[in-house]
Formats: sequence, structure tokens, C-alpha cells
Amino acid sequence: MLLIIGKPKCIFCDENEGLLHAVHDYGIYGTVGKRIFYHDECLQMIELEPEKFGHNMVDRALFIHELKERNLKFNIVIIPKHKKRVEKLNEKHFERIMPKV
Ligand SMILES: [Zn+2]
Repeated sequence: MLLIIGKPKCIFCDENEGLLHAVHDYGIYGTVGKRIFYHDECLQMIELEPEKFGHNMVDRALFIHELKERNLKFNIVIIPKHKKRVEKLNEKHFERIMPKV
């Protein structure tokens, strides 16, 4: 069941307008938890001039990067599994469309 509480908001500016990117947060058992949303512009603004933003904002920017990296590692594990499943599905599909001899 998909439960959405409120609209996703940017972790930096707290707005929900515009294009929001998302990274997954992880639970303690490596399960995928909630998603963290952010504007790429907001992240870039902080990256360019971190001294202009408070400690809190810089912390969040670092957190996004940490999650991005973890998302990538997670994908490296997950994608081959999915590829195998797709291959299997294609195989079965191919068998079924082949004329029976
Ligand atoms: Zn923002």
C-alpha cells in the first residue's frame, strides 16, 4: 500500500514547487526506507558557496551525497538481480511465442 502524507518537499528550502529529485534513505537492516526530496538547484547553491549557508544546510547537503553514494552501491547489487529476472522472463516469453513442433 502506498501512503503519501502531504506533498514531498525540498529538504533545503521546504518548497514543493519545481522538479524535485529523490534519494532513498535506509533502514537499519539495509532496507529501503523513506525518500528524501531536494531541488538540484538548492543542493548546487550550497555546494558552490557553503560558507553562505548554515551548518545545518551543509550537513543536509553532505547527507544527500552520502545517500546518493549508498543508492549507487545498492543499485550495483540490485541491477544484476533484476537483469537475471528480465532474462528469465524473456526466455519464457520467447519459448511461448515459438511455434510448437
Ligand atoms: Zn529547494
